[in-house]
Amino acid sequence: MTPFQVGAHVSSSGGLWKAVERGVAIGAEALQIFPSAPQNWRPTNHTPEAYAKFLEARAAAGIGEVWVHCIYLVNLATEAPEQLEKSIAAVVNALSVAERVGGNGVVLHTGSHKGGGLEGCLPQVAGAIERILSEAPGSTVLALENAAGHGGTIGRDFLELGTILRAVSNPRLQVCVDTCHAFAGGYNLADRDGVQAMLEEFDREVGLQHLAVWHLNDSKQGLGDQRDRHENIGDGRIGTEGFTVWLDAIARVPEITARAMLLEVPGITDDGPDAENVRRMKEIRAAVEAAG
Ligand SMILES: [Zn+2]
Ligand SMILES: [Zn+2]
Repeated sequence: MTPFQVGAHVSSSGGLWKAVERGVAIGAEALQIFPSAPQNWRPTNHTPEAYAKFLEARAAAGIGEVWVHCIYLVNLATEAPEQLEKSIAAVVNALSVAERVGGNGVVLHTGSHKGGGLEGCLPQVAGAIERILSEAPGSTVLALENAAGHGGTIGRDFLELGTILRAVSNPRLQVCVDTCHAFAGGYNLADRDGVQAMLEEFDREVGLQHLAVWHLNDSKQGLGDQRDRHENIGDGRIGTEGFTVWLDAIARVPEITARAMLLEVPGITDDGPDAENVRRMKEIRAAVEAAG
């Protein structure tokens, strides 16, 4: 297994195992899937046969890490009790899917406080996560994703994510860093000093040992614009050079054990991560490895 895996978010429509086929077709070494339709509260009831076929296909293809991205409707900071209950159930379901596909864990958008700040909703958010982790036993990780920052989304800065991790204090609660969200959120990871500053802040607020996985996206928006607009690798404001600088920097930090880089890009030839984006990222990885 190569030290960093170039992975991709792929559709599992038509059956979970189809995700493996789609990943293999574009050269992905790791996968991310939705547990069910992301804009819908209703969980998909995957059959035991579907899980078995997924595990068989995954093993045959030699796929590395597998992550489940929770549905988009979840908001652990909601003021509506009914939505909070639905949100908790959705994350529990995503963790159970992750467990059954032998996955590493679930990536979650914590939610939005709609401008009210994290402080007021922290007890609710932390309490919800504690419930989720107790209702979904197992070893799969729950990774809170950093946000670009618009609309009061929780997690633009690492202080917010670290505050939640400290409040919950469970080793299964970790963090996913999305390169596009970080850049739009004001972290200049395309620059050598910028990426060092980002890693130092992450280590101080969250701890590098809690960095579980990367979302690998270029950004249509500029540094600090706080807008979440993914772009194909090399075609955005981070650019090929920026990703090279970033990967070279993180590869030199032994405390960073997050090894999967999951593409969630619009696609060049296809709708979604495609062979060309995977190829571009493998080329960047090869350049970093060659430079030593
Ligand atoms: Zn996400
Ligand atoms: Zn993401």
